[in-house]
Amino acid sequence: MNTYTLVDRIARPGGSRVRIGAVEVGGPEFVVAAGPCAVESEEQILEIAFQVAGAGARLLRGGAFKPRTSPYSFQGLGADGLWMLARAGNAAGLPTVTEVLTAEDVPLVAKNADALQVGARNMQNFALLKALGSAGRPVVLKRGLASTLDELLLAAEYILLHGNEDVILCERGIRTFEPSTRNTLDLNAVALLKQLTHLPVFVDPSHAAGRRDLIAPAARAAAAVGADGLLIEVHSEPERALSDGAQSITPAMFAEIMGELGALAPLHGRTLAAGTARRVGRHQLSLFRNRIDRIDEALLALLAERARIAVEAGRVKTILGDSLHCPEREQAILSRLAQRDAAPLAAGAIRHLFENIIAETSAVETRATAIHEEVR
Ligand code: PEP
Ligand code: MN
Repeated sequence: MNTYTLVDRIARPGGSRVRIGAVEVGGPEFVVAAGPCAVESEEQILEIAFQVAGAGARLLRGGAFKPRTSPYSFQGLGADGLWMLARAGNAAGLPTVTEVLTAEDVPLVAKNADALQVGARNMQNFALLKALGSAGRPVVLKRGLASTLDELLLAAEYILLHGNEDVILCERGIRTFEPSTRNTLDLNAVALLKQLTHLPVFVDPSHAAGRRDLIAPAARAAAAVGADGLLIEVHSEPERALSDGAQSITPAMFAEIMGELGALAPLHGRTLAAGTARRVGRHQLSLFRNRIDRIDEALLALLAERARIAVEAGRVKTILGDSLHCPEREQAILSRLAQRDAAPLAAGAIRHLFENIIAETSAVETRATAIHEEVR
């Protein structure tokens, strides 16, 4: 038998709703999932999470296990990326969506994310589909690059048959003869899927277009054609993204698209969540604190290195018969640095900071050299 029954619209003519954390997909809300193609660092995902939440995204996307065309491309941070994503989603108040590549990884990914994505390249990985039946998490199932709607629906049928009813389909472009875009966004498929199945349907304009200038019009078209939501790649520095930079939009572009979607969502009786921009104050504070903590760590490592080098220099001075303490050189260092533009730090502040650094470093140098002398 080659027909689906569990996912057939006839089974639930009113359509089904899928909850991801506290967010409901397939209901009155047009739900936008946004975030980078890949989680690259704790700071990167945290920053983007706040930015997209501020603009009205309801879900945070970000790949930890990446299916890359080339084995030489960045493969994702794996398990580390999972907890970074979870932490960022938690901080920004967004449930998370991330890809799972293998059946074996399902329990690990399910433990760390609110929804599991099956990538286009894995749509017919039947072992994975079966394993997702008992994942206990909703699934975002992407259409394969060259898959028919029948094949997509049968892939979804596998997941339902194995015990998981919470499936969202995702049209992400199919491969055609057209080379000027990465893939061809099949909007017919969205309208038709809404007739054929009760499952909610997302559109991913990013992977379909492959270029950032087409994301806004494609996103508008998806909302107009009746999709239940979107999956969009957003990066705070797209030109430095480790994957899919060309199709990643900036947070400012994302905010603009969200504004446009606000006007389109009512076409299908939907609402669009308001951004948390007004609530972002506290989130922003924790973001800044996080950065300051990282800077302090880096400063400390550099100070330790400075002290180690000073100890070495002390040994050489002793061999040469020079004195350890050299007030002229210290003054020269202080004057040179105080002249630098380190705004908002003023010359007096720079002098004060470095007087202390020099004093502590030369104390270490003196002690280490004294011990060395004793040993000799
Ligand atoms: C992705 O979402 O980053 C991804 C790899 O998508 P797709 O499987 O649609 O290519
Ligand atoms: Mn991607």
